[in-house]
Amino acid sequence: MKIDILSIFPEYFSPLDLSLIGRARSAGLLRVDVHDLRRWTHDVHRTVDDTPYGGGPGMVMRPEPWGEALDSLVSDDSVLVVPSPAGEPFTQAVAGELARASHMVFACGRYEGIDQRVIDHFSGREISLGDYVLFGGEVAVLAIVEAVARLIPGVLGNADSLVEESHTDGLLEAPVYTKPASWRAHEVPEILRSGDHGRIARWRRDRSLERTARRRPDLLDPDALSPRDLAALTE
Ligand code: SAM
Repeated sequence: MKIDILSIFPEYFSPLDLSLIGRARSAGLLRVDVHDLRRWTHDVHRTVDDTPYGGGPGMVMRPEPWGEALDSLVSDDSVLVVPSPAGEPFTQAVAGELARASHMVFACGRYEGIDQRVIDHFSGREISLGDYVLFGGEVAVLAIVEAVARLIPGVLGNADSLVEESHTDGLLEAPVYTKPASWRAHEVPEILRSGDHGRIARWRRDRSLERTARRRPDLLDPDALSPRDLAALTE
């Protein structure tokens, strides 16, 4: 996958050199290019913003630098993502959809956001990281790139990690433990040390259902649950 990121703060993206994303880039599974939007300005101050039509506080990002930048980066195969608190919520399902793209372009807004005509002209997909407001799109893009990149085949060392994760099957994952078996008088559940894979799988499923019902009941879809799952929930 190829990713182009446009921002007035390209330095924000140095974490993409690290850890598994950095390794995926070195291995050629992922190519990421970060561009300074001001490259596409033509005045001495390298201006990217102006006052909003209709009045109101703050500044809006002007369409011309965005238009020139996106003309040079977006093609028919590209998916343009524009982070916005007014966008569709970012979920694991959206990450899965984006992971199928061969080329993604991210347009990081600042101030009060990007002139809407840019987003409409280039058919940008507005995506929200959550119901709160950040200073700019950079942190949202880091989160989206990380969630998408780990779904690209070969990026995660162990692809099985993806199978049982929170949100993959619509539920939150069961709690996890490692050695030692006893730590500060807290014990690892005995069943996880039993070696009985069938009982462990059932225990994990039950904890997963229980946790989801308690913390995120909005995620539970009774039609997607087996009679055994429904019984576990009412126990
Ligand atoms: N005036 C905008 C509004 O109320 O919808 C908020 C603008 S915000 C200060 C500046 C930029 O930060 C946005 O254009 C967007 O790129 C980014 N941003 C802020 N919150 C975000 C969120 N929850 N999800 C994704 N991007 C966000």
